[in-house]
Amino acid sequence: MTDVPITVAGHPAYTGSLPEAVDVAVIGGGIIGLMGAWALAAEGKRVLLCEKGRLAGEQSGRNWGWIRQQGRDIAELPIMMEAIRLWADLPDALRAAIGFRQQGITYLARTEARMDAFARWLALARPYGIDTRLLSRRETEALLPNAAGWVGALHTPSDAVAEPFVTVPVLARVAAEAGVIIREGCAVRGLETSGGCLSAIVTEAGIVRCTQAVLAGGAWSALFLRSHGVDLPQLSVLSSVSATPPLPEFFGGAACDDRFAIGRRADGGYTLAPWSFHEFFIGPDAFRNLQAFLPQIRADLSSTHFRPAAPKGYPDAWGTPRRWRLTDETPFERCRILNPRPNKAELARLRTRFAKTFPKIGKPEIAATWAGMIDVLPDALPVIDHTPLPGLIIATGMSGHGFGIAPAIGKAIADIAQGRIPSQDLTAFRYERFRKGTGLGQSSAL
Ligand SMILES: Cc1cc2nc3c(=O)[nH]c(=O)nc-3n(C[C@H](O)[C@H](O)[C@H](O)COP(=O)(O)OP(=O)(O)OC[C@H]3O[C@@H](n4cnc5c(N)ncnc54)[C@H](O)[C@@H]3O)c2cc1C
Repeated sequence: MTDVPITVAGHPAYTGSLPEAVDVAVIGGGIIGLMGAWALAAEGKRVLLCEKGRLAGEQSGRNWGWIRQQGRDIAELPIMMEAIRLWADLPDALRAAIGFRQQGITYLARTEARMDAFARWLALARPYGIDTRLLSRRETEALLPNAAGWVGALHTPSDAVAEPFVTVPVLARVAAEAGVIIREGCAVRGLETSGGCLSAIVTEAGIVRCTQAVLAGGAWSALFLRSHGVDLPQLSVLSSVSATPPLPEFFGGAACDDRFAIGRRADGGYTLAPWSFHEFFIGPDAFRNLQAFLPQIRADLSSTHFRPAAPKGYPDAWGTPRRWRLTDETPFERCRILNPRPNKAELARLRTRFAKTFPKIGKPEIAATWAGMIDVLPDALPVIDHTPLPGLIIATGMSGHGFGIAPAIGKAIADIAQGRIPSQDLTAFRYERFRKGTGLGQSSAL
């Protein structure tokens, strides 16, 4: 059984001395930071991207690779539709086979009540011109001929998948070619200000002057922000994944029902994961943000499994310091890569469930298992905005779907940093919405 492809073992690819000054510093080398950095460098900005561990070592190298418009909160649908268009151009722009395939994503329903929920979402989404449609029982059986048990489905033919383990390293290479200075193993400890405005980032390897920084720190963003007095109600959940070796093709796309998700990878294997099972480690931020998250916790109660404490060094572990001196080692250096242990018992149950659903295929062999910490915000929408600290922009809280939306978020980051009106309406993603009583609407996501 192998580990996830990108770990702290082995040499980092991007090292070297730091520049004295740049136009924009990007904090975090996941797909969001890289897309933002690439977009800014393409416009001639001097950009430094600092990653405390390895590029794509956390969520961006651990996800299923789904690029999904279907089931999104309607507030996110237009920007996600733009992301799909941008993805279609990426294989050429990156000059690489990144496994991008528009073979559709399907949500399978076991009950008529679920079909009704699909129909309600579709009624909201249709005016945007999306190609989603409801499938009958017979059409669903034709799509997944080896399985049974579903009354129908919701299907979006233009939804896609790509290979995260391939895409993000290639993206880094192309961003570096475009001029982005990338440094791995280089944690940003904090920020310096002058006259109340950002004047530099302080990294473990030295200080770099800049008047703008983009925080794309994934699950670490709230911890970073809090050390500068900026509150963000962000929590993380653990999600486990397994991967089969290459198998004869029985389904070419990606699908899920209320219990599991399955997607065919470019290497001919399938990625299998529980759909409604995630683990939540209780820590100080869980209490601090309880009220904001109550609606989400209530809606998700049966799929959330509470654990009393996060592993040592995690962003919301009980012992993790919330403040530090910029001259000392920080929590970001002490935990280079969040590499949680997958829940083997749940993954074993998943195999059994899979065998019952696909009796002709039976229990699949498993080639690899891993887990990731998914960062979430109370309304499961990202935040892409200026912060109260002038010069600091945040692009975080991708809430489990940041891989697919990333190209459009990268573009939005460049718009915000350049002071342009973004081409997409980012109102739903503003920072201010977390202030008491303002704008946290009810989610329309499925
Ligand atoms: C199991 C799983 C399945 C998923 N499936 C899908 C899917 O199918 N489709 C989809 O769209 N999304 C999916 N997601 C979500 C998606 O992976 C994330 O939303 C996306 O990768 C977030 O990207 P990011 O760049 O914001 O964060 P990350 O990829 O987590 O990157 C943040 C980076 O910032 C670095 N960092 C943090 N603080 C500092 C600091 N102070 N200094 C320097 N570096 C720092 C971290 O080390 C990290 O590498 C899934 C996630 C998981 C875990």
